[in-house]
Amino acid sequence: LQQKVEHQQSLNVVGQMAASIAHEIRNPLTSLKGFTDLLKVDATEEAQMYLSVIDSELQRMDQILSELLMLSKPANNRLELLEFDKLVQHVIDFMMPDALMKNVMIQLVSSPMNVLIEGNENRLKQVVMNLIKNAIESMYNGGTVLVEMRVNSGSLLELSITDEGSGMTSDTIENLFQPFYTTKTTGTGLGLPFVKKVIEEHDGEIVIESELKKGTRFSLHLPIHTFDPLESLDSNIKNSNYLV
Ligand code: ADP
Ligand code: MG
Repeated sequence: LQQKVEHQQSLNVVGQMAASIAHEIRNPLTSLKGFTDLLKVDATEEAQMYLSVIDSELQRMDQILSELLMLSKPANNRLELLEFDKLVQHVIDFMMPDALMKNVMIQLVSSPMNVLIEGNENRLKQVVMNLIKNAIESMYNGGTVLVEMRVNSGSLLELSITDEGSGMTSDTIENLFQPFYTTKTTGTGLGLPFVKKVIEEHDGEIVIESELKKGTRFSLHLPIHTFDPLESLDSNIKNSNYLV
């Protein structure tokens, strides 16, 4: 028993505690949100103003908690065979409205490929989402996010996400996988730690290139489960533009 307890403790005490705390805070937060909405009904104009500040701060707390829960929740072991290009396409479609608001174009460049990846669909979707979100947020005046997919040497799938944004200082590059490290006023600093965790779960690798005021590229390398090169040879390059 002793051994078992020790083993469990070493698994991830901090992560488990974070998860329980996040979970416990969720419920009172929901009730605060409910009563805030009730107060709005009869509030004066001035009070409305304060209440909307409370509202957005509550929303922010909720955001931090859900990202914290996501980061500390262990992956379930259920792996699926995923058509990775469809997954990426799905995420891009989902992110279009957000990009639209920020004058950002998301461009997908990939040759049609029959690549299957063994993995966890929701977690990988969230990874791609986090990276595209960061890319969008790095371009204050809009620009293009380039999403590229290719097969390297038949066994690795490379997905790269390139922006024309602020780029990163060496200090940021050193720290970006630290939980809560953020350079944004409303950032959580939990997006990239999650990316790292999930890519490690999938035996993948992350490569980062960045130049200040030029932009940043995050490349993910993931082991391919099945790849049918004949299928993709005769197909033309698919180049879908999303002007959003
Ligand atoms: P958050 O986005 O909440 O700040 P992340 O973990 O997603 O947290 O990112 C951590 C930090 O890494 C960001 O605050 C930012 O400084 C830097 N960063 C991540 N992606 C990019 C990017 N595409 N361009 C510039 N900086 C980036
Ligand atoms: Mg982020």
